[in-house]
Amino acid sequence: MLSTMQDGPLSLANLLRYAASVHADATVTTWTGATARRRTFGELGTRAAQLAHALRELGVGTSDRVATFMWNNTEHMEVYAAVPAMGAVLHALNIRLSPEQIVFTANHAEDRVVFVDGTLTSAFEEVLPRLRTVRHVIVVNGDAAGFRAPRGVEVHDYEPLLAARPGAYGFPVLDERSAAAMCYTSGTTGDPKGVVYSHRSLFLHAMHVTTPAAMGLTTGDTCLAIVPMFHINSWSLPFASMLSGASLLMPDRFLQPEPLLAMMEAERPTSAAAVPTIWTGLAARLAAHPQDISHLREVVVGGSAMPVTLMKTFEEQHRVKVVHGWGMTETSSVGTVAHPPARATGEDVWRYRMSQGRFAPLVEFRLKDDDGALVPHDGKSLGELEVRGPWITGSYYSPGDEPVEAGSFDDGWLRTGDVGRISPDGYLTLVDRAKDVIKSGGEWISSIDMENDVMAHPAVAEAAVFGVPDERWDERPCVAVVLRDGEADSVDAAVLREHLAGNWAKWQLPERWAFVAEIPKTSVGKFDKKVLRRQYAERRLA
Ligand code: ADP
Repeated sequence: MLSTMQDGPLSLANLLRYAASVHADATVTTWTGATARRRTFGELGTRAAQLAHALRELGVGTSDRVATFMWNNTEHMEVYAAVPAMGAVLHALNIRLSPEQIVFTANHAEDRVVFVDGTLTSAFEEVLPRLRTVRHVIVVNGDAAGFRAPRGVEVHDYEPLLAARPGAYGFPVLDERSAAAMCYTSGTTGDPKGVVYSHRSLFLHAMHVTTPAAMGLTTGDTCLAIVPMFHINSWSLPFASMLSGASLLMPDRFLQPEPLLAMMEAERPTSAAAVPTIWTGLAARLAAHPQDISHLREVVVGGSAMPVTLMKTFEEQHRVKVVHGWGMTETSSVGTVAHPPARATGEDVWRYRMSQGRFAPLVEFRLKDDDGALVPHDGKSLGELEVRGPWITGSYYSPGDEPVEAGSFDDGWLRTGDVGRISPDGYLTLVDRAKDVIKSGGEWISSIDMENDVMAHPAVAEAAVFGVPDERWDERPCVAVVLRDGEADSVDAAVLREHLAGNWAKWQLPERWAFVAEIPKTSVGKFDKKVLRRQYAERRLA
């Protein structure tokens, strides 16, 4: 028996229409370093329509890839709104990748138009001659006049392109399964791999992000999107804010702790999203320059494991609740969020808070062992996490016939490459990426757990644990440590080993320690263990 319900596509064009009318007074605010500039969602609708007209005149059609090379700001949001709504495919290029990786991703995606921020034109000029499919560059918040482009590439200024265009556009009715946007993984463990999101997948995922099981966004919120728009679409905050009517606050290029805090003081956001390293930097700055940030009711942290001491610092010293989540480019970002169940009390609450979180509805999950057998969800047994669902990718984007990394899929499930355990009530606790697991004498040492414990020492600002070859044990853990200012004389390897001794078996305790000024980070701010392993092999770790 069929239902009597009507059908309607979950399309980002509908989302834009909705946001621009029903939430016309919500705002997108961009920090400029000292003040802020603001536009409403109503204006967003008008400008997105003008942009769609301009892009159509430049020849952009259905499924054409339109890329951005930009910071998080209002104009970037306008591109986000216009491009999928007109049936083209948005591709936010990761501005922090190496030039080779930028060339690889833009060519692989076959980007035709690129929006380039005025402060990033030199970096883009460097790669542009190697971009095979780009025909138009649009300079945003800058000046196209001096831009050096190879023959065959037209360069435009953003504002004149929009000016005098009609403020309404007949956005097409789109198949909800058609491509709306694409992102590449940040390449933490290998070459970037492309994922193509559909209107339906982005819509459903953003709906989940707005719910209390994730960020609980409402019209009362101002959501600070620190996570870059090139990192899994800023974890869907642009779309989630359009759905919920939450205002957006964009930091542009002012991502250091000092300007971020100045912006917070002026704009008082109520929620935020960023990777742990951003919060580490903010905590250090706040320790030296106290400021009330309790206007943040809740912030979401993910991308890599959040040290529990850092969570507690924000909660106890700053009255900001930090909520841990797990996700991947392949899962549209949010797969789990660590809100404890209401029945949890006392230390139990922290047990849940420290996990990567509870699976979202629509995300099916299972664990598999090395032989491919299912592992029980008993909160103890370890296995590789596999997921499937309407916002999980079923393959990697491949412009040709050759499948990319087909081994990442198992009978319709995505193999995440993450190793962990799942509790009977659906909470995930990760111990490692499969590629980062340390196997010492046939036993596993979790780098995530060990990092968490080292960072619990009050003198430690950051610590990354990675496996290094060992003749006797195959692999041993090595710890790279950044000490807090002024702690160099009080702490050494022996002190930190002693600190770990309570929680770890003797054979697990690391004998290799490197005290460094900084831990190398990937383009999205994760500890770069590839670089650490290389530095160790080349004896370059101090
Ligand atoms: P890349 O794989 O290049 O880093 P992604 O940003 O898609 O690109 O990374 C997804 C991976 O990040 C996950 O598979 C997992 O290993 C890691 N990750 C994400 N969130 C967490 C978290 N809360 N705790 C630990 N690891 C996480």
